[in-house]
Amino acid sequence: MKSLLIVDDEPKICSLLSHFFEAHGFRTRTAHSGAEAIQTLHAEVPDYLLLDIRMPGMSGLDVLRLAKKEYPHLRVVMVTALDNVEMAEQALTLGASHYVTKPFSFQDRHWARAFFDERRDPITEELDPTAIEDVRPRDSVAAATHANMRMRLGELLITKGLITPSQLEEGLRQQAQSGEYLGAALVRLGFLTETQLVETLAEQLKIPSVRLATYEIEPEALEKVTPKVASHYHLMPLALREGVLHVAIADPFDVQTLDELKLLLDCDVQPVLASQSEITDAIQRHYGVGASAVERLLDTAGAPSATPAPTRTEDLSAPGDDASVIAFVNQLISSAVKDRATDIHIEPFEGSVRIRQRIDGVLYELPLPPDLVKLQAAIVSRIKVMAALDIAEKRLPQDGRLKVRLAGQELDLRLSVLPTSFGETVALRILSAQMLLSLEHLGLAASHLGLLRQLLSQPHGIIFVTGPTGSGKTTTLYACLHQLNRPGVKILTIEDPVEYQLTGITQLQIHPKIGFSFAQGLRSMLRHDPDIMMVGEVRDPETAEITIRSALTGHLVFSTLHTNDAAGGVTRLLDMGIEPYLVASSVLGFIAQRLVRLNCPACTREVPTTPEIRSQLTLAPTEPLPPTVRQGQGCAACKGTGYKGRTAIYEFLAMSPSLQPLLLRRASAQELAACAQQTGGLRTLRQDGWLKVCRGLTTPAEVLRVT
Ligand SMILES: [Zn+2]
Repeated sequence: MKSLLIVDDEPKICSLLSHFFEAHGFRTRTAHSGAEAIQTLHAEVPDYLLLDIRMPGMSGLDVLRLAKKEYPHLRVVMVTALDNVEMAEQALTLGASHYVTKPFSFQDRHWARAFFDERRDPITEELDPTAIEDVRPRDSVAAATHANMRMRLGELLITKGLITPSQLEEGLRQQAQSGEYLGAALVRLGFLTETQLVETLAEQLKIPSVRLATYEIEPEALEKVTPKVASHYHLMPLALREGVLHVAIADPFDVQTLDELKLLLDCDVQPVLASQSEITDAIQRHYGVGASAVERLLDTAGAPSATPAPTRTEDLSAPGDDASVIAFVNQLISSAVKDRATDIHIEPFEGSVRIRQRIDGVLYELPLPPDLVKLQAAIVSRIKVMAALDIAEKRLPQDGRLKVRLAGQELDLRLSVLPTSFGETVALRILSAQMLLSLEHLGLAASHLGLLRQLLSQPHGIIFVTGPTGSGKTTTLYACLHQLNRPGVKILTIEDPVEYQLTGITQLQIHPKIGFSFAQGLRSMLRHDPDIMMVGEVRDPETAEITIRSALTGHLVFSTLHTNDAAGGVTRLLDMGIEPYLVASSVLGFIAQRLVRLNCPACTREVPTTPEIRSQLTLAPTEPLPPTVRQGQGCAACKGTGYKGRTAIYEFLAMSPSLQPLLLRRASAQELAACAQQTGGLRTLRQDGWLKVCRGLTTPAEVLRVT
């Protein structure tokens, strides 16, 4: 049996360490000062000496010097605070063999290296010797308890009918491979929801559980735990009652975290169960996005100055624990992607900074750590470096793009920086990493899908998609091109920006600064004799004229117009000076569209229909009103908004012979729409939205918001 002398002036730490090493087969003694350590050493020389560096009176370094002089073969491991690593390095030169840092985790591989190298069990013996770094000390008692718990958790889940025996088997197999806890494995495999897991664990272990989305966190509890500690241990403080801190944790088997926390905070800790994702959200909400990075930064550096060299692709999944502004920016982008945000806005004001992200078309303010304003300039610089922009230029607008890697996936971001009186404001647009390119995924009603397929089968002509910015026009156009993309067909596009790379299609990006405009690009494209073309947008008479001419000379052309409804597309073209007969002979159809948010499936409920809906949505008097419609109530899954994800609503105006005479006499958009409604059954955006309301997908309010 190996013997160990533990020296620390803090009795609690001594007893915790002693407990740990006894459980791992060491014989331990403790000393609470340098002098006492020397005395104990003289009485009996242990195999190992575990030595705290910072002690009043005789320091750990003093003890080390004396001990090494008298017992050169004694193995000494130093314990030091994170901010005192320099001293520990010095100890290594004085003969210490290892050091570990406080606050420590017993799962830390440094422990394995310092103490357990020689204690290989038969399994690790067979492994590559370099793998010893990954061997963690195992507490046999705790392991037995876990095995027992695991059995009972599995049985309980089966008894409650939440999982099947074969799912349990699969979970146990996965768990053995990944080393995670059984519950986490079952959730990851999709056999169980996080809420079901938390409820079952709470029942089995007799620990209370909490829904963090609705829990009122006590400010005293929040003050007690720094952002660094909360994010390191992944816990959320809840309340401080008679000196006992109640904390929400996701993993009730992690007793070591609780032990360490008690020492660290110097108070008793009462665990309460909550789901992993609710804890993540709560940490963000109460401490602010990237709070631990900001805390570390202001702790160590004061203010960051040096800017790292630019790299081509930033890997955000790499450990983001650096005490640097990089960690903050990485957390900002990862959190936006996790929340399905499409853009991030960093806006400076006098003495403060605001960061907002757009989710499903609506801007939400992010909770931020209060000290963030001190880092605002450094954050903007960091983002500019990532996009290889000139960081010294702070008076002129700059645009750029950057690539980041997140969980193995590469993301494209477009960056725009504008100078304001309080510093630079940044807009970051996250271009879709993947796009569902099939027509079936566009959310088209069956009749509209049939109509679109018919338009796409035409050999030439123009199809215009209309709507304001952010109405999903690009997705529709890409899906059309994807549908038509075949080896025998040449497709060229000219876009601003190229949002998504389509395999097999040549895509050009306009550069107005060097004279490469839509019109110029179109003229050049025609010389390449494509079968199908896409023009990002028709916004000037010249582009309109060339687009029409291309359609009349045998090309199928797709483009967009900024108009509110489908019939408005006609008047827009006439306003640009296009002759009515040219519109009538070239355009196949106008498709107006908007994006509506979908009801959150987790919290959608039936709510009574109000009679005003009929007039608000201009429904036909014959349209029957259902007694209820569905509406999301707001929950953790949708951040309390009641909506999650989006789909599109459409209005199709196909050119037909009955519209020709109206067009030729320059009839108004209203007249055209009325005629199309009577003869072709045109359905307005609101009417199409109402169909989606009736199917329970969205709400009347949402349809009214976008139309
Ligand atoms: Zn919800």
